[in-house]
Amino acid sequence: MTASIIANQAPTLPLAGRAKDLVGSMIDSSTSLLAAQTHDIVRFAMGSPADEAVPSEEFREIAGTILDASSFTYGATEGEPRLLELLVKYLAGTPDPSSEDRLVITTGGMQGLDLACKLFIDPGDLVVVESPTYTNGSATALSYGAQLLEVPMDEDGMLVDQLEDLVGHHHRPPKAIYTIPTFQNPSGVTMSLERRKALLELAHRWGSIIIDDDPYGLLRFSGNDIPTFQTLSPQDPLLFSVRTFSKILAPGWRVGWVDADPSIRQLLINGKQAMDTCTNVPNQHIVAEYIARGGLDDHLASIRVLYRERKDAMLDSIARHMGDRVTTTNPEGGFFLWLTLTGEFEGIDTRELFEVALADGVAFIPGPALSPGGRFRNALRLCFASSTPERIEEGIKRLTGSLEKMIA
Ligand code: PMP
Repeated sequence: MTASIIANQAPTLPLAGRAKDLVGSMIDSSTSLLAAQTHDIVRFAMGSPADEAVPSEEFREIAGTILDASSFTYGATEGEPRLLELLVKYLAGTPDPSSEDRLVITTGGMQGLDLACKLFIDPGDLVVVESPTYTNGSATALSYGAQLLEVPMDEDGMLVDQLEDLVGHHHRPPKAIYTIPTFQNPSGVTMSLERRKALLELAHRWGSIIIDDDPYGLLRFSGNDIPTFQTLSPQDPLLFSVRTFSKILAPGWRVGWVDADPSIRQLLINGKQAMDTCTNVPNQHIVAEYIARGGLDDHLASIRVLYRERKDAMLDSIARHMGDRVTTTNPEGGFFLWLTLTGEFEGIDTRELFEVALADGVAFIPGPALSPGGRFRNALRLCFASSTPERIEEGIKRLTGSLEKMIA
């Protein structure tokens, strides 16, 4: 698996220097790896919404109605006007209200991350990431030549005190701080209010951009909302917010948005023009029509219940099968939990476990794939969102069997 994301060496081709920094994503590669398997696999690897959480009937119906001539031609780079208008209206009722002069529709959250790095990261710039982190995000920064600084987390998110100390050793402030503050991918942890405030203060002191990547914030299923960076510091020119419909509607549409200071909107548009001209137009129309019909809030309410049941089911199965041989986080929303092997499982390398478990019919993402420096040998990410409670029970049973096999 790891080998499959290491590019073939092609010494005869005149590759750009940056090509060596294209590290690939084990998360994304798991899609084709799993598709190629012929046996039954419980899929805890990819962060996909549940099939039941995608309003597919409504999408099918909408798809038949939106295909007029405007769907077949190029659209505006900043996004379809109807989608932008509806998005502003929708966001007015969320913790992060916005306005059209701040928004650009993107091809998923990934393009938002790419644009953030394209605009702000020069080769050699220091970029802070949480440890563990969403390595597709850190890989984007790497592809622009960033030097990454991993900052450990606890159950309240990034250890901001340590961030200050660690940055001290580098004798230069970070250019950007990449954070997934709410129901973090991969840990499921949410950054506390105190830490958010402390991080904002440091960013202001250093003049660092905060790349606030939040695909899961609208998926809280227990506990209380914590004010977002935008709420704490409205209209902050240092805040760059990356959002997506992938987790709340469907990732296949590839529709997301960025929310950033109006002074850089034209640069965002220019940067996107150099990538893909515009985000897929029919897909934007489908998402716009879905929002226009007014069902998004009810949809979110129902999928929150579904995901809560699944998170509870997974923790319950883990407790029954693995007991005190592991510890886990207990997320209040989102898709993922983080499992650390302890006791008699402690010495197992989750990269080796991956191969055994795959043969046994269960897939997850090993900890080292979620840390640029390959930390967390004895930890792994589990997506509880996409499997039914029955499949979760089966998958955790299989995973326990694989773990026991490895210590036998
Ligand atoms: N950021 C995080 C933290 C994510 O979990 C994901 C999706 N797994 C993305 C960004 C990318 O979102 P999209 O699929 O919309 O490109």
